[in-house]
Amino acid sequence: MTGGAPLIRTSLPGPRAQALIARDAAVVSPSYTRGYPLVIERGSGCLVEDVDGNVFLDCAAGIAVNSTGHSHPDVVAAITAQAQKFLHMSGTDFYYEPQVRLAEELAQVTPIGGGVRSFFGNSGAEAIEASIKLARYATGRAGIIAFLGSFHGRTMGALSLTASKTVQRKGFGPFVPGVYHAPYPDCYRCKLGLTPDACSAECLEFIEDELLVHLVSPEEVAAIVVEPIQGEGGYLVPPDAFLRRLRALTTNYGMLLVVDEVQSGMGRTGRMFAIEHSGVQPDVVAMAKGIASGLPLGVAAARADLMDWPPGTHASTFGGNPVSCAAALVTLKLLRERLVAHAAEVGAHLLKRLDALKEHHPLIGDVRGRGLMVGVELVTDRVTKGRAALERDAVVTAAFHRGLLTLGAGKNVVRFSPPLVLTMDQADTAVGLFEEAVTEVESRR
Ligand code: PLP
Repeated sequence: MTGGAPLIRTSLPGPRAQALIARDAAVVSPSYTRGYPLVIERGSGCLVEDVDGNVFLDCAAGIAVNSTGHSHPDVVAAITAQAQKFLHMSGTDFYYEPQVRLAEELAQVTPIGGGVRSFFGNSGAEAIEASIKLARYATGRAGIIAFLGSFHGRTMGALSLTASKTVQRKGFGPFVPGVYHAPYPDCYRCKLGLTPDACSAECLEFIEDELLVHLVSPEEVAAIVVEPIQGEGGYLVPPDAFLRRLRALTTNYGMLLVVDEVQSGMGRTGRMFAIEHSGVQPDVVAMAKGIASGLPLGVAAARADLMDWPPGTHASTFGGNPVSCAAALVTLKLLRERLVAHAAEVGAHLLKRLDALKEHHPLIGDVRGRGLMVGVELVTDRVTKGRAALERDAVVTAAFHRGLLTLGAGKNVVRFSPPLVLTMDQADTAVGLFEEAVTEVESRR
């Protein structure tokens, strides 16, 4: 596949892509958000070939999922070997080794002390549903606090926590009762000009001085659910102090701290889990996306003493599918052996190179992230910091036409969430193509 470089051979979308998109339009739910018309034929590592033979450098990874790259040979071999033995036996009613072994491995890597148990589902939303249900069951309390800008999924429980874009909620209410939202630190946009520490305090004061005073009594709140880096909300990295104070607050009131690592977990930030950068130990960790390199798997991993719900309380027929577990076991091995450290190293390089673009490109307001979870916020100008939403979409499209796959996040952020196998050279290629896209959009203004 072109030996590592993107190559665009046709106008986009090419003829075969156009034909498939027309068929899709007739029969597939129109609720999906397709930013640009990519029709994949195959993928390998960080490269994706479309049905017309165009090759793209993938910095989207199927929304931060293909952690070990497209079709990593070890993952494919493990999936194949498991598929030849058995495809399904429902780990909720029977036993099989891949699920047990995965739970054992997760107990080792999940940053919770004193024993960890795992519940297996099929998606990020299911991991959140399990976390909400566990929090309510274990505490006997109903209330949940989440954050404005957060994204936790689209099933009714998870959607009740999600407060990212109104289009995701409009027409679907009423939502699960007992959910409250608080502000999440956005230090780039702090109107008060606060230090990160003061900003953290300000956001948490809203919980303690407003929510817990006017709306819900602390003894009625089961958990606070937080993304340690807000993903769909715009790749917002909160100060470490924010997460540490959140831990102190939850402990103080007997609430659980649930971290949603669906997007930020599995090595993406250069640590196995993003919460580890702050040193905080949560009570529950929700995982999905990168955990099985592309096969469906969601996990709610919790303090063992919390997860003592009896048989029948919660389960999922397909959850912990043996083929997904086999993929996850190899994924974890690759992450631990090399890719977590690699993500830290290449991610630091990518962040530095993207940040340097600010010097020549006024469209770029802020560059932030950890590891290979990097966001570039586009602004109409750097004084008012107006959100350059149309320009963001135009940059993502212009990048696509140059052979670079990225995704939007929030209203005006371009996100880089490549497979964790991205090389330094590929990171440089990505920055070069991205700069061309930014230059093109700036020249149109
Ligand atoms: N939580 C976070 C932080 C996410 O980014 C997402 C998806 O983008 C979800 C939960 C929901 O995951 P899924 O789409 O697998 O249900």
